[in-house]
Amino acid sequence: MSHTIPAIKGGTPVRQQFLALGLPDISDAEKNEVLDTLSGTWLSKGPKVQVFQREFARYVGVPRALALNNCTAALHLSLLAAGIGPGDEVIVPSLTFVATANVAVYVGATPVLVDVEPDTLLISISAIERALTPRTRAIIPVHLYGRPCPMDSIMALARQKGLVVIEDAAHAVGTEDRGRKIGSIGDFTCFSFYATKNLCTGDGGMVTCPNNEEAMTRMEVLSLHGMSTDAWKRFSPEGNPVWGMVDVGYKYNMMDLQAALGIQQLRRLEGFLANRRELVAHYRNLLKGHPGIQLMAPDPSDGRHSHHLFPIFLNADQLSVSRDEFLAALKAENIGCGIHYHALHMQPYYRNRFSLREKGFPVSTQAHNTLLSLPLHTKMGLADVETVVEALIKLLRYYAK
Ligand SMILES: *Cc1c(COP(=O)(O)O)cnc(C)c1O
Repeated sequence: MSHTIPAIKGGTPVRQQFLALGLPDISDAEKNEVLDTLSGTWLSKGPKVQVFQREFARYVGVPRALALNNCTAALHLSLLAAGIGPGDEVIVPSLTFVATANVAVYVGATPVLVDVEPDTLLISISAIERALTPRTRAIIPVHLYGRPCPMDSIMALARQKGLVVIEDAAHAVGTEDRGRKIGSIGDFTCFSFYATKNLCTGDGGMVTCPNNEEAMTRMEVLSLHGMSTDAWKRFSPEGNPVWGMVDVGYKYNMMDLQAALGIQQLRRLEGFLANRRELVAHYRNLLKGHPGIQLMAPDPSDGRHSHHLFPIFLNADQLSVSRDEFLAALKAENIGCGIHYHALHMQPYYRNRFSLREKGFPVSTQAHNTLLSLPLHTKMGLADVETVVEALIKLLRYYAK
């Protein structure tokens, strides 16, 4: 009987050991590559960054990729290279990480938040259409949780209206839409290699820009103070120490220590994705039709979901506790969990600055109140999925109204 009492109420937790929501997966291959870098003479942006960029571009199927210190920098440089600035409007989904909208503020543009689709939480095409004004210059679709946005519809709308498409692919390394890798479709695509993302370099990012060599070069210059050549090209034995500053740029480059991790993580990526797919299939099987929760839409039939996160909706109106209290109870069972994401229109800064109201964003508001992400990473196994489901069902039963 005691096992039915939640740990937060003094019962025995379902798990003895805490299961993290997300974890990096670093093998000896990554460790050896980092040690190789440390034994050499070049730690910052140098030969390993070149290799990682080349191999990442080949993986995505584009001529070039630019490695940066994070995805936020990639989004910022994309907006700058697209010439977006004060007076311009940038359409952003209301359910995403704060960085997606913050970058529009960085360049002095106005982020225009729009609602998302109920079963996928991807940006809504009809909401984009309703938000268009003569000042609209760009759309930032987010491949949320690793699910591909419908890029054909987004690109067709953008071409018709003369808009730039900058994809936030922070969750979407390896995601495909109709046989094409994300990174090869939009004008700019920005990836994150943050510690818990599908491919990890500690912190790190990459931007691709398949059809605009000039924008790619401009982003490279802006990523290193606006200097015309990078330090490796200036100070290496075959380098030329002469350079010029052509613009005021930033210090946004990736370093070789990060690229060392990235080179080896990229070689393991397909294995990671297969692993994640298997864990998600197990979760979905065990949770299918369970009262008290709702699952996201199944995987797309004409694309590949990279399963960065596994969120579910909690039917909080059927429970005697709030979603946040439920989260605390799940944590007490030693299950890591989180909320992806708190909607942007509910954030004090955006709500106050742009006078946003909940009723303009019914789907994001509902998601904001009911989302719950369960552990998903490649250091866990099917047995871990089973303990998560056991804890979830224990709490759903205990707290059922
Ligand atoms: C992680 C994340 C970012 C930011 O990535 P960084 O590499 O940490 O800058 C942007 N957008 C989304 C949706 C993210 O999850």
